[in-house]
Amino acid sequence: MQELGIECPQDIDLEAIAWTLGAAVKYRPLDKCEAMIVGGERRALITVNSKAIPTRRRFSIAHEIGHWHHHRGRILFCGAHDIGNPADDALNPEKQADQFASDLILPSFMVQPRMIKMKRPTLAAVREIADEFDVSDTATLLKIIDLDHFPILAVCHNKERRRWFRRAPMIPGWWFPRQELDHESFAFEMLFGDANESAFPRKIGADAWFEFRGVDRFEIQEQSFRLPNDELLTLLVLPDEALE
Ligand SMILES: [Zn+2]
Repeated sequence: MQELGIECPQDIDLEAIAWTLGAAVKYRPLDKCEAMIVGGERRALITVNSKAIPTRRRFSIAHEIGHWHHHRGRILFCGAHDIGNPADDALNPEKQADQFASDLILPSFMVQPRMIKMKRPTLAAVREIADEFDVSDTATLLKIIDLDHFPILAVCHNKERRRWFRRAPMIPGWWFPRQELDHESFAFEMLFGDANESAFPRKIGADAWFEFRGVDRFEIQEQSFRLPNDELLTLLVLPDEALE
């Protein structure tokens, strides 16, 4: 990025970056996958589904550039479940491409200073960064978690179960979110009822989200937003005492 003179979010022109690496980007409607890459040793063609929303297309290009970097010479078709799926495990090539994509569209050296200015980790604060970088709220939240500046977790549920979660490295391992959504949580009202997204994080007893001895001493904050496919993503903020 430094070689290319990229210093601010507006400079992250993915098509130009792909081009300097020998990959051209084309858009066309794709039915069976979100994006694909076909290439030899030096040149590649990345095709992105033109029907996807802009932040998704952007993540997909970055993901394919990640394949070009890590898995050169292979032909890869990446489905909706392959791109930006936090449930993938670390050894999966799709996860490697996602990690590369996250570093490309949300470079830590640009996100870090914005996070230091952020007073509280709220959905509004996450969205401000997401808009500035032209990426999804989910990708932004995951980056903020990984940067380990706040004691926060993201937990994703569908109507059956918890699908995945991500936790800031500073948080001790016993803060492990429960599989089922507690019916007293605000998230439950959003997933199973028609409750609207809350403008602010709301306080709730930590035992609604976690179970370990002594958990009822803590109060945490939760704030959720809806994802496609009837999924809900919840931002949980732990108190500082939770880290002791
Ligand atoms: Zn892929």
